[in-house]
Amino acid sequence: MDGLNQAEGLWAQAVARLRPEIGDENADLWLKPVEILSLDGGVLMLKVPNKFFSDGIKERYQKRLTALFRDISGLDIGLDFRVEKDLSRVLPSSDPVPQASAQSDFALSDLNPRYTFENFVIGESNRLARATAESIGKSPGTQYNPYVIYGGVGLGKTHLMHAIGNALRRQHPKARVLYTTSEQFANDFISALQNNAIDNFRAKYRSLDCLLIDDIQFMIGKERSEQEFFHTFNALFDSRKQIIVSSDRSPKEMTPLEQRLVSRLEWGFVADIKPPDLETRIAILRKKGELEQFSVPDDVILFIASSVKTNVRALEGALIRLKAFQSMTGAPLSVDEAREILKDTLVNDDASPIRAETIQRVVAMKYSVEIKDLKGHQRTALIAMPRQVAMYLCCVMTEMSSTDVGRAFGGKDHSTVLHARKKIEKKIEEDPFFMELINKLKSDIRAAER
Ligand code: ADP
Ligand code: MG
Repeated sequence: MDGLNQAEGLWAQAVARLRPEIGDENADLWLKPVEILSLDGGVLMLKVPNKFFSDGIKERYQKRLTALFRDISGLDIGLDFRVEKDLSRVLPSSDPVPQASAQSDFALSDLNPRYTFENFVIGESNRLARATAESIGKSPGTQYNPYVIYGGVGLGKTHLMHAIGNALRRQHPKARVLYTTSEQFANDFISALQNNAIDNFRAKYRSLDCLLIDDIQFMIGKERSEQEFFHTFNALFDSRKQIIVSSDRSPKEMTPLEQRLVSRLEWGFVADIKPPDLETRIAILRKKGELEQFSVPDDVILFIASSVKTNVRALEGALIRLKAFQSMTGAPLSVDEAREILKDTLVNDDASPIRAETIQRVVAMKYSVEIKDLKGHQRTALIAMPRQVAMYLCCVMTEMSSTDVGRAFGGKDHSTVLHARKKIEKKIEEDPFFMELINKLKSDIRAAER
């Protein structure tokens, strides 16, 4: 029997006796991840995933284990630990044949296999976020840690996170990769508190090689979860494990989230995803059509891509509706049909923000006045009317407060703005032709904003 076999035998016997004393759950959590490295000079060398394990095993079981070793072998045998810090060394290197079974000791990730890098279309709006994600998928825990992806709804944050997880899984089948949302994390934490299982909770989260937490903004205000996440973060970060977080806003805008956590997030790499430009939207629609085995005529693709601008999920939704329609009729779609089918969904996509400058420009053109006149103080009706119209439109078409609107019109008082708004509202009520004119102005402004 060589030294290593002997060491492994000793460990196995000791664990077999300890198991009934501490219960299966603890044994699986604490002792199963241990790997035996050597037995040398009366010291059994154990390899553990991180410091959390070495501390935990020392604190909880070391005494009992040494007693068991003495019982089994008649010798005084000490324990020593080696913590594998560098993920790329812990993980087996790229393996062309994924071994699904190697993973089974830890029922972890909920990764969606459809969300891969191959299925993620690259455009200017997401180039950096995606390139960084891909590089993390190759060598986690090194350069970009933590990695924060932020951006608006439906722009591909969750997709990218799963893609990282899937890539890691493929290249490092044994890696402990966990994808979760901040809400799930918080729920998990609370139920651990309630069930007196906080040690298990910590062992689970702190033994990961890669933790992906989606929509971190929902953690804001959940103080205890935030704190717990902070400690989880530190434990993982200290052992150079990869942390990836997504959010609908940049770390700077997360102010109520504990300041110390925000500054940690900023240690790493922050990338944003913006709404895709027209070309990227077209490419995404083509890709989705391919995946859905739905062939969409080019002019219909162009129509959808030019109508739905702010959200990739909405693009997908449009495509799916069209597919359902086409499968009923069997005939290829025309643009007019597409417009008819999507008419209810498309009105809601006028989400591109309207700017005061655009309103002023369009109104000035319509009334043939100068923009500087709109911002000036002349009271002749020829100027005062378009000025009031423009102020009114700023009130109803933007998120600006009346103070903001006043400022945009050469520093006028907010009461002037409110007065203008009331006056125009009244006129719209009284005069259908005027209402028509205002509606036309609104649609011109929206068109100018595209
Ligand atoms: P978020 O998490 O930012 O709200 P998701 O990742 O859930 O957005 O993306 C919404 C949908 O849009 C998903 O089905 C995703 O596959 C798709 N999607 C987003 N960006 C892209 C892209 N660049 N290429 C392909 N699909 C995309
Ligand atoms: Mg998401």
